[in-house]
Amino acid sequence: MKTIETPILICGGGGAGLTMSFILSALGVESILVERHPTTSHLPKAHYLNQRTMEILREYGLADEIYTKGSQAENMGAVAWYTSLAGDGPLDAKQIYKMDAFGGGTTAETYARDSACRSGNLPQLRLEPILRAKAESSPLASVRFNNELISFEQDADGVTSIIRDSVSDETYAVRSKYLVGADRGRTIGPAVGIELQGPTGLVDMVSTHFSADLSLYIDDDDPLLRWYINPEGGGSWGSGAIVPMGPNSYDRHSQEWVMHFAFRPDDPDFDEAKIVPRMRELLKLPKLEPVVHKVSHWLVECIVASKYRGGRAFVVGDAAHRHPPTTGLGLNSGIQDVHNLAWKLAAVLKGHAAETLLDSYETERRPVALRNTKWALFTFFNHFVIDAGLGMIPNAPPEVNREAFVTLFSDSEQGQTARARLHEVIQTQRTEFTAHYLEIGFNYDSTAVVADGTPPPPFAPMGDIYTPTTRPGHRLPHAWLTRGGEKVSTHDLTGRGRFTLFTGTKGGVWKEAAAAAAKRFGIALDVVAIGAPGDYADTDGTWASLRETGEDGAVLVRPDTHVGWRSRTAPKNPEAALEAALATVLGR
Ligand SMILES: Cc1cc2nc3c(=O)[nH]c(=O)nc-3n(C[C@H](O)[C@H](O)[C@H](O)COP(=O)(O)OP(=O)(O)OC[C@H]3O[C@@H](n4cnc5c(N)ncnc54)[C@H](O)[C@@H]3O)c2cc1C
Repeated sequence: MKTIETPILICGGGGAGLTMSFILSALGVESILVERHPTTSHLPKAHYLNQRTMEILREYGLADEIYTKGSQAENMGAVAWYTSLAGDGPLDAKQIYKMDAFGGGTTAETYARDSACRSGNLPQLRLEPILRAKAESSPLASVRFNNELISFEQDADGVTSIIRDSVSDETYAVRSKYLVGADRGRTIGPAVGIELQGPTGLVDMVSTHFSADLSLYIDDDDPLLRWYINPEGGGSWGSGAIVPMGPNSYDRHSQEWVMHFAFRPDDPDFDEAKIVPRMRELLKLPKLEPVVHKVSHWLVECIVASKYRGGRAFVVGDAAHRHPPTTGLGLNSGIQDVHNLAWKLAAVLKGHAAETLLDSYETERRPVALRNTKWALFTFFNHFVIDAGLGMIPNAPPEVNREAFVTLFSDSEQGQTARARLHEVIQTQRTEFTAHYLEIGFNYDSTAVVADGTPPPPFAPMGDIYTPTTRPGHRLPHAWLTRGGEKVSTHDLTGRGRFTLFTGTKGGVWKEAAAAAAKRFGIALDVVAIGAPGDYADTDGTWASLRETGEDGAVLVRPDTHVGWRSRTAPKNPEAALEAALATVLGR
């Protein structure tokens, strides 16, 4: 059997696997990716891309294309609840509530302050081809669709995987140093004893991707998600939600949509023939003639891998964690996983770091998954609380619940009370739509971070308030800097495999220290002396207010834009201090 050698084999060509491929290429590491399907996903699935993910995609030059092809900011700044899409009854097609979301409305200033990137929205079936083209553009990557990993074995020096090419029907072996399981937990994890732990099969959901002109029934363009709740549909999830899928616009004129709804518990035999009639019923559009592209069933679950590494095999993305799409953390976490793992693999393969650096992938990313999966589960089930906030009684006949809606829209004291009560209850759902801290505020505590004993910034229990900090383990704060006519984010000066040392106007000593450390460890280490002549200027003083170090202090940023170490002022021996910090981060 033919054997091909590569440092890294990636199993799975979804969002996580494809991103791993192009990041490794950018870091100068060869890889092979095998994907058993002939094409990228046909299902829209993920669409919301949070600011952290957009920052990563910006690092690799993809953000502009995603913003251009996806939702404009004005079409994703809210989410809203209505009684139905259409219908001519007295309670039909009424807006129940609208809430700011994803950095829109009253949150816009805060989101814009904290990142160079706004949130994005591009359905996975349109995003994955962009990721695939990027992966395929590098001569360092071999991206093989129609190729399935059948089995693999590890030994002390590497992994031997057996791959079947379904076009040629040939089987061949790949010998790699490491194997990355981006396969949704299908093959790699189970083979190395990784268990997916947590409840599964909690709710049976159906998502229908269809084309139809719904513009006649919609008179606002800012909500990205539209939920329907009415007495006939059975409340939240039962009555459905719709999401625009573009491709030309993501407002009321969107050509394609996805409708999500839960199976009716009293109709366990629900099959696809019943979908269009049910959509007509729920949307109150009896004459709707949708062109159905795809129907997918998915189960609500909340599972995290027992470990992220089995010898030379790692799990990323849905292979490591799965949860409901509420809060949109699935693909986002997957892309952030591979961003964390890729630079570590590259550093180890190039001999810049000890093998133990790879253990920090689990230490850093698994706690994030444990939190995100539970958060997503809460935000899924909290939708049912909205039913209660509306005054709906579970399992009561529609005529009983109709009373609650009549009161809600009535011009009476009871109506005012119903609306005030609903406002309080529904606001708890901001945990899903303004999870700003959750999205960019996560931090790492591992051997690849040199803790400085300072306490973390105030914790935001509702997941909304992010406090920028250069405390080791946290994502570097974003600040705009200028040089000549150029305007860059602090983030633009980091990443793509290199370490960056930020210092100030009195940080000249760090230049020599950094040059010596770069030579000793063989790494790329840039120094940015903000405010120093010829260097980037902190024109509006934002960086000075965020850096938490003096003009002669330093902030060492890892290739994944998380702070690895900082020194408030220049120590007596900057070279020794920096080398000690890098030795810790790199495990050397
Ligand atoms: C309705 C819905 C809405 C969602 N919305 C969002 C959202 O807004 N934001 C968000 O972040 N997430 C969202 N998600 C979650 C998101 O879709 C997933 O988290 C994401 O697809 C996971 O990507 P992945 O690359 O890890 O896995 P996948 O996309 O599942 O890719 C795994 C790939 O591995 C391949 N594979 C498996 N075994 C093998 C093998 N042996 N050999 C070769 N190939 C193999 C599979 O064919 C597949 O292509 C949503 C999910 C659903 C269902």
